[in-house]
Parts: sequence; C-alpha cells; structure tokens
Amino acid sequence: MGRLSKGAFALGGAALAAGVLRRALNPKPRYEVWERPPYGEFPNRVLVLGGGFGGYTAAYTLCNLTHDRHDVGVMLISKENYFTFWPMVPAIISSDIDTRNVAQPLRRALIRAGASFRRASVDGIDYERKMVTADGQEFPYDHLVLSLGAEPAFFGIPGVEEHSFKMRGISDAEAIRNRVIERFEEVSLMRGEIPESKLTFVVIGGGATGPRRPPSCTS
Ligand SMILES: Cc1cc2nc3c(=O)[nH]c(=O)nc-3n(C[C@H](O)[C@H](O)[C@H](O)COP(=O)(O)OP(=O)(O)OC[C@H]3O[C@@H](n4cnc5c(N)ncnc54)[C@H](O)[C@@H]3O)c2cc1C
Repeated sequence: MGRLSKGAFALGGAALAAGVLRRALNPKPRYEVWERPPYGEFPNRVLVLGGGFGGYTAAYTLCNLTHDRHDVGVMLISKENYFTFWPMVPAIISSDIDTRNVAQPLRRALIRAGASFRRASVDGIDYERKMVTADGQEFPYDHLVLSLGAEPAFFGIPGVEEHSFKMRGISDAEAIRNRVIERFEEVSLMRGEIPESKLTFVVIGGGATGPRRPPSCTS
C-alpha cells in the first residue's frame, strides 16, 4: 500500500473517531426541533416556572431522565429569555466583565434538550384547574415545578428599601455601575471643595456579593 493511501486511511480513521467522540459528548437531542410534538399534546405535561438555576436545572434534568419516553412533555416559562449567572453579576458593577458573559440564551439550550420554552411573565396559578396564566395566556400542566427565585430581604431596616439600589438582575447591576460613573463625572466638573457625600458609597450586606473580595483577600 502506498504512503498516500496509508495517509488517507489514517485521516479517514481520525475523522471517524472525531465524529464518534463528538456524538458521544453531544448526545442527540430527544427530538429534532421540527419533529417535537407541541407541549399541549403530551399525555404528561411538566411545566417549569422560572429559568434560573433551579428551573433550568430541573427542566434539563427531566429531559435527560425522560430521554426515551415519548409521553412526557416539558415546558419552561420565564420572564426573560436568558439565564442569569448570578455569581458574576457583581462584576458587572466594576466593569470587570461584560453583561453578555453573565446572560446566556435559554431558548436554544432548552429546545436542544427536548423542552419547549416560552418567554412570559407568570400572573397566576389555578391549582384546581391545573392551569398557569402568563401574559394573559393559559398553560395547562399535570406536574408543576415552581422555581421563580426570591425577592430581596430588607429585614425591616428603616429607609433601606426606599433609598438603596437592590441587586436582583442585570439591569440593577448596570444601574449601580452607571450611578457610580455619573458621580465621578459630576465631581470631575466641580470647582472647589467636593462634598464628601458625592463620593461616599455605602454597601449594605457583607456576604459574597457585598465586598469586592472576601476579607482574607484584601491587603
Ligand atoms: C448577586 C448574587 C450573587 C450570587 N452568587 C452566588 C454564588 O456565588 N454562589 C451561589 O451558590 N449562589 C449565589 N447566589 C444565589 C443564587 O443565585 C440563588 O441561590 C439561585 O439563583 C436561586 O435559584 P432560583 O432558580 O431559585 O432563582 P433564580 O436563579 O433567581 O431564578 C428565578 C427565575 O424566575 C424567573 N421569574 C421570576 N418571576 C417570574 C415571573 N413572574 N414570571 C416568569 N418568570 C419569573 C426569573 O426571570 C428567573 O429566570 C447569588 C445571588 C445573587 C443575587
């Protein structure tokens, strides 16, 4: 066998192995996008509310567990069409990272996993009729997963809620960043004594999000 044909065989073998590896690492979705029946037609409908850590993981895991079943339909409803990677949100304030690195599209990942996705804001749940209302539309379910996150706690401290920024989303982090930048721009144009209050920022909460770095990392 000539060196050329040996090389061609080796190349073909490598391409075949790469294909097998790619398929093993990215298993075929439960359904191709065009062959998946509408969510409402499944005999067992699982409706997941909220596309955050809990909701996304629940929907993705359910799709994996029911990979070989054709009677289970999974739908996720969330008010945003992206997943927020919360641990990196504080870094938006310092401009250490870009917003797009924190927000990841939900729709494609869920559809590839075999779920349906709707961007809508949940308004109400009728547990008797097993029906969720979101943006004026009704969504039936047989099983419901509630994973709508939480609201910030102000612990009744007077004034905090009315006079502070909260951090419950990417837009909140951007608003804090913009306020800090505005203050610096404002004082850079001021003449004479700059009131201390202009550049004083108070962070309420000393957990992982509050300080820039954990205390052990500061010099
Ligand atoms: C700034 C910050 C940093 C954090 N860092 C860390 C960390 O480093 N490590 C860690 O373990 N935990 C961290 N956490 C906590 C972690 O993010 C939460 O525990 C986790 O997100 C909770 O998951 P969840 O699915 O319950 O809620 P979320 O992830 O908040 O998801 C809630 C989902 O519900 C959707 N939703 C809400 N209301 C409606 C509605 N009416 N209709 C439709 N959809 C709706 C939202 O859009 C969102 O998609 C952090 C939290 C914050 C705020």
